[in-house]
Amino acid sequence: MVTGECFCGEVTYQVSGKLRDAKSCHCSRCRKAFSSQASAYAAVDPQEFTWLSGENILTSYVGEQGFGLQFCSQCGSTLCGIFNEKVHGVTLGCVNGDPDIEIGMHIYVGSKATWEVIPEGILQYKEDVSDSL
Ligand SMILES: [Zn+2]
Ligand SMILES: [Zn+2]
Repeated sequence: MVTGECFCGEVTYQVSGKLRDAKSCHCSRCRKAFSSQASAYAAVDPQEFTWLSGENILTSYVGEQGFGLQFCSQCGSTLCGIFNEKVHGVTLGCVNGDPDIEIGMHIYVGSKATWEVIPEGILQYKEDVSDSL
């Protein structure tokens, strides 16, 4: 069981199954979306995801291709990614404790911010997975 919550604690959720496919994307769009050097995101089975509290104060932003993010309107934490109004993944920053997964790959490292220093020894790709750095 994985649980997560926003910064102010009003919004909480649980995932009854495992997180999958954890990755970090360093593209300029993910930097904006996650307000950080990169995304840190893992996929979930939509049927295994449940909001426990605060669903009523969630706000959504949906981008061009139908993918969106949901965040707490009170504190601004970005909690999950949605597609067709279903939760398809969670931001690792809002996960509590040890979710028993590690970031498996770093993608779009070729467009990382100039100020970001990428540690050595991690699996990284200049763009997507087909394009090893
Ligand atoms: Zn909050
Ligand atoms: Zn990205």
